[in-house]
Amino acid sequence: MKKLFALTAIAAVVGGAHAQDFPGGKTITMVVPFAAGGPTDRVARDLAEALRKPLGGASIVIDNVPGAGSSIGAAKVARAAPDGYTLLLNHIGMSTIPTLVRNVPFKVETDFEYLGIVNDVPMTLISRPTLQANNYKELFAWIAANKGKINLGNAGVGSASHLCGLLFQSATKTEMTPVPYKGTAPAITDLIGGQIDLLCDQTTNTSPQIESKKVKAFAVTTPQRLTTPLLKDLPTLQEAGLKDFQVTIWHGLYAPKGTPAAVTKKLNDAVKVALKDPDFIKKQEGLGAVVAADGRIEPEGHKKFVAAEIAKWSPIIKAAGVYAD
Ligand code: ASP
Repeated sequence: MKKLFALTAIAAVVGGAHAQDFPGGKTITMVVPFAAGGPTDRVARDLAEALRKPLGGASIVIDNVPGAGSSIGAAKVARAAPDGYTLLLNHIGMSTIPTLVRNVPFKVETDFEYLGIVNDVPMTLISRPTLQANNYKELFAWIAANKGKINLGNAGVGSASHLCGLLFQSATKTEMTPVPYKGTAPAITDLIGGQIDLLCDQTTNTSPQIESKKVKAFAVTTPQRLTTPLLKDLPTLQEAGLKDFQVTIWHGLYAPKGTPAAVTKKLNDAVKVALKDPDFIKKQEGLGAVVAADGRIEPEGHKKFVAAEIAKWSPIIKAAGVYAD
């Protein structure tokens, strides 16, 4: 018993010494649990760049670990060494997976240190360019006429596009065939190519495609219309008659549970500096995202928010009658 105590004490001292030097010239890996080129990846790459300076010029590499709606990447970070060198950038999936997935390979509440919410991002409902509809009324008529034949893309069970698609099917009382991808970057490629019909995805991914008219956009998922010039004329899904429909995607940064407090403080302090970086703000706002600036940028605020989101989405998901293994 005594020996164990001594070892723990030595480990704490060693950990403390490392913590003071962190990151000390070592590369930090930021795991993105979706495919490269998609919206979560976009946020992660912009954030990694903005974090570099406040972390003393540290190099931060992105590791795309896609699959299972973000569960695989999140589980990888939950099991990584708790030293601050492996981080997770994930979205709303942290709060929907506990309800949507039966055997979650990690525990959202207890397997992570929370390092701050980064942004909020609206979604857009988009279609392949050849779909015979040009506004939501025509889209709803097309949906009614094509029941049983509609393919709806998503980024796996528990992903943002999956959640939005489930809510949309439930609100329109239409069952669609889900087509899962490793992220919405490959999903949008197939949408443009006409392999799938519909997709609900963050504006950080859809804005360039909407602008270049490679996809058709019908509505936004927020309760209010957006102010971004490109998207300001899109109606909300509530305006389109889908009562109470609203979903906004947020992203947050996490470290494995047990990461020394001195390290998590350095990381959270760096996040708070990054969130004020004018370049980061400009890039994010240009894609319709709103950079976080409220109590959720603090670890306790972030943790409380995720718990509140789990409590918010659980009954909605259950009422929509959707589960997956
Ligand atoms: N936006 C995707 C989702 O539906 C994930 C991604 O590719 O970033 O969750």
